[in-house]
Amino acid sequence: MLSEANGSNGSIAGAGALLNILRDGQARTRAELVQLTGLARSTLAQRLDALLSQQWIIPTEEAISSGGRPAIAFTFNRTARVVLSADLGATHARVAVTDLGTTVLAERAAEVSIDRGPEETLGWLQRTFEEMLTETGHRPDEICGIGVGLPGPVEHSSGRPVNPPIMPGWDGFPVPEWLGSRLGAPVLVDNDVNIMALGEHWAARPESDHLIFVKIGTGIGCGIISDRRLHRGAQGAAGDIGHIRVASALGTVCRCGNVGCLEAVASGAAMAAKLSADGVEAEDSRDVVRLVRGGNTHAVQLIRQAGREVGDVLASIVNFFNPSVIVVGGDISEAGEQVLAGLREVIYSRSLPLATQHLTITASELGDRAGVIGAAVMVIEHVLAPGSVDRSVSAA
Ligand SMILES: [Zn+2]
Repeated sequence: MLSEANGSNGSIAGAGALLNILRDGQARTRAELVQLTGLARSTLAQRLDALLSQQWIIPTEEAISSGGRPAIAFTFNRTARVVLSADLGATHARVAVTDLGTTVLAERAAEVSIDRGPEETLGWLQRTFEEMLTETGHRPDEICGIGVGLPGPVEHSSGRPVNPPIMPGWDGFPVPEWLGSRLGAPVLVDNDVNIMALGEHWAARPESDHLIFVKIGTGIGCGIISDRRLHRGAQGAAGDIGHIRVASALGTVCRCGNVGCLEAVASGAAMAAKLSADGVEAEDSRDVVRLVRGGNTHAVQLIRQAGREVGDVLASIVNFFNPSVIVVGGDISEAGEQVLAGLREVIYSRSLPLATQHLTITASELGDRAGVIGAAVMVIEHVLAPGSVDRSVSAA
């Protein structure tokens, strides 16, 4: 049921709920909407007018099969606004302009090091967004929001990074205020693996209620979709599995300062360091994947073992959380079956049979686009939430 009027602009409150009905892509006539919502025709008309005036919906003429007069039907207008989204990694970035259905209108990838600090990095991002907006023929006032993923812990409510280990100068930096005041739109920030989980769930696994997205790249982390919603935890730190203690890492110091973290033995950075120490040239996770693809047996052994180490931690998480899908992404996942094999081996042998009975373990379908799509999803879900739409139409 739609919630009825509250406050002085009662006829408009509820427009957001109506828009959510129309978002499924099915065009609906006034008669269908009256039947579906139980609203009075006059109330429905006011809400449709409010949505039409903001271009959230578009009218179309529906031919009636019985041959009668065509009725007007309404559909959600995905092109009403544009979203700017960015996935900033440790050393590379991907930036996109999308519509409200995550269709990518423009996209760029670039080598950008996050350790140049927030002002230089975000200054680059601002210029890139402005260029891409012009490229797509859109105006700044069409931006409904900006989504940014960062490679470190983020307090989601304030959008500020919190003690990010590989991001010098970023601790507590007001990313939303800095970017928002320059681009004139609200900014949402989250850590990279959370937005990847959102992107993968939206685009490739919308039917999954409980999904875990594991990123194995320079570091290791996971994003948790619980009951179709991103679970961030109390402070936004949920899913940080990279620093869970594992037996094989007990003699190894992690970049977080502790000893024995999963990341210290199974991340792309750890594998690259191990390979270089053994005289094989490797600087980062992409080098590790290149070596695996080239059939380097040392790299293949390392990556299979890393899969088992990550699998060992995930086996406990499967028992605890009972996901229906585990999606593996990040640079290292591009080694495909070499990493999935070790992971599956341990999870299926160590987790409870009931929890693994219908469990799918698979590589990310979106690959290196999961982050930008997810950053756009984060914005779209925020902007199209019924309360936000109600505010946008009553402010007009
Ligand atoms: Zn650690």
